[in-house]
Amino acid sequence: MIQTEAIVLHGFDYRETSRIVRLATRDAGVVSAIARGAKRPKSRFGQGLDLFTGGVAHLLLHPSRDLHTLVGFDATRARPELAGSLQRFAAAAALAELCIRFGSEDAQGEILGVLEQGLDAIGTSADPEVSTRTLAAAWQLVAELGFAPTLEHCASCHRPIGTDEQVPFGHRIGGALCRTCAPLAPGARSLPAEARRTLQSWISGEADRNLDSASARAHQRLLREFLEEHLADGRALRAWASWEAGSR
Ligand SMILES: [Zn+2]
Repeated sequence: MIQTEAIVLHGFDYRETSRIVRLATRDAGVVSAIARGAKRPKSRFGQGLDLFTGGVAHLLLHPSRDLHTLVGFDATRARPELAGSLQRFAAAAALAELCIRFGSEDAQGEILGVLEQGLDAIGTSADPEVSTRTLAAAWQLVAELGFAPTLEHCASCHRPIGTDEQVPFGHRIGGALCRTCAPLAPGARSLPAEARRTLQSWISGEADRNLDSASARAHQRLLREFLEEHLADGRALRAWASWEAGSR
């Protein structure tokens, strides 16, 4: 049995009285666990398993199985503010989907802190700022997962790229390309210097910039294409799609 900091990413009812939850944890990465009796009126889980709640999970890990047992959950941080607007909720669900789909290898618990910060930033943002906060958190998660795109030098020949250059961005090749290598990524999206600086600041966790809505949409598209290329193994990212559609 381990006790570890965790955030509830997803949950669904299982049989009459139980729930199965997905948790991002500090010590075991992203795991699925069954909370037996969680739906009973006087369950020891109480409201603790609401979406995006943070706390300490008491987990019985079953090494040979994908489904572990959640023995208890001491909630320390509910996040009802995320349900306060559709924008916030869609954004939080999209970050959770990113963790669920790609966080299972995260044995070091690197993503928990980034997720926590991202959810809190979204929860304290007015609707117009939510998409920028979400983009920043998503790129930091991508970086923690080890997929950060190359931006300061060419992803192919490693030649430095000037800060003011508008260059093509090759999703498959994993970043910006110099003019010589541009033909390696036919049809690549062109990334203006300003957009590249914004991406860099998000990845390095610097204070976010607020974007006008056209730039925010361009960044949403870039992020989705990048996730699909690098992480999505052909399966649709549904929460990202509805987040993107809902931000328009
Ligand atoms: Zn190059």
